[in-house]
Amino acid sequence: MLIQEQMSLEEKLAVLSDAAKYDVSCTSSGVDRKGKKGMIGNAVSAGLCHSFAADGRCISLLKILFTNQCIYDCRYCINRRSNDVMRTAFTPDEVCTLTMEFYRRNYIEGLFLSSGILHSPDYTMDLIYQALRKLRVQYRFNGYIHVKAIPGADPVIIEHVGLLADRMSVNLELPTAQGLKSLAPSKSRSRILAPMRQIQRGISTQRTEIIPYKRGQRFVPAGQSTQMIVGATPENDYQMIKRMSELEPEFKLDAPHLKLLTIGRLDHQKGYDIALEAARLLKERGILFTWYVLRKGGLYDEIKQTIQKYGLEKEFILLGITANPYPMIKQCDIYVQTSKFEGYGLAIAEARMLNKPVVTTKFDAVFNQMVHEKNGLVTTMDGVGVADGIERLLKEPDLYHAIVDYLNQEKKGNVEEIAYFYQLIEKGTGRS
Ligand code: SF4
Repeated sequence: MLIQEQMSLEEKLAVLSDAAKYDVSCTSSGVDRKGKKGMIGNAVSAGLCHSFAADGRCISLLKILFTNQCIYDCRYCINRRSNDVMRTAFTPDEVCTLTMEFYRRNYIEGLFLSSGILHSPDYTMDLIYQALRKLRVQYRFNGYIHVKAIPGADPVIIEHVGLLADRMSVNLELPTAQGLKSLAPSKSRSRILAPMRQIQRGISTQRTEIIPYKRGQRFVPAGQSTQMIVGATPENDYQMIKRMSELEPEFKLDAPHLKLLTIGRLDHQKGYDIALEAARLLKERGILFTWYVLRKGGLYDEIKQTIQKYGLEKEFILLGITANPYPMIKQCDIYVQTSKFEGYGLAIAEARMLNKPVVTTKFDAVFNQMVHEKNGLVTTMDGVGVADGIERLLKEPDLYHAIVDYLNQEKKGNVEEIAYFYQLIEKGTGRS
């Protein structure tokens, strides 16, 4: 593998933007079209992509690799050591020059920087750090930066990079250790998970420790993302969901008593009036619980008001949105669904995958997924029914454990049911 030393900046850009196009943490258009006489504009297949800033805006980014040289040989990657492709690397100054020049011309609002591994993870992460530091300090660049953390790099360098970048990501690569071993033998799950956990912890600490960070730099304010290769190895949906559930949770469900979870858009269909009435009754009956809710929606203000009206501020917690709900499902004791109607309850299927007993209202299609008193309880569509179901699972441990045992035995593969869900989408019945 020979790095081309004599390339011009433009030639390096052609190679390293092309090599970056396979990273889908942000997306390239993939269109390659020359300018035409009498027409305005052209399109190139790589180089610029779009992503979302912390405030939700869609922004254009210069998308490049620092280098396409790599000491590893991941079989799915164009930059793998054994692949015979032209190799090159930017210098930190070249990354800064390109970013600033593109920015000044108004082509981009930020930078997406990933890299192959040059010499070692530490060496590469340090080069990325130097580029970002120069960009922020010397070139005074205040635009958006999304950077890839290199698994295996020293946590101290990752921490420093995180204070300069807006978003960091680490590729999860493949859902299982076995898949990783067969296609990326130089990588290990623990080395991939370590920086992911570090970034997540940095974000969480910042959320809870506002004061120390108040006047200082913020750690990856736009958050963390990841990507996983699906279909290259024979893992099924269950293995992927299980894998995702083992990642660091964005929200810790740390109540010392009964933990309930509901995932669903805050709207009429999801029956939050039923959930709140059930919560009110549980509290009235002296049951200690915390009911966590994931997702947002138009009823947010109304639900907040009802929480206050019922005095449920400590019991009914609206967490908001997370890209990976599985660690939260894993942490809860009971998954509760209070829908008034559903084509298919995807969250119920996901909870069952993770062996969580379900309490759900009896919406029309409920028995396509539920076997009453086997994988959970199906209740009447009102607060009393739902509260009774939850209380029953709490007070009848034999029933609770029998349900967990049943769920453990349930066939889990390519969530026959998730496949069914996709069929429903095709027919026009979607998940919230
Ligand atoms: S470490 Fe990254 S760049 Fe190197 S071969 Fe593997 S996937 Fe490709």
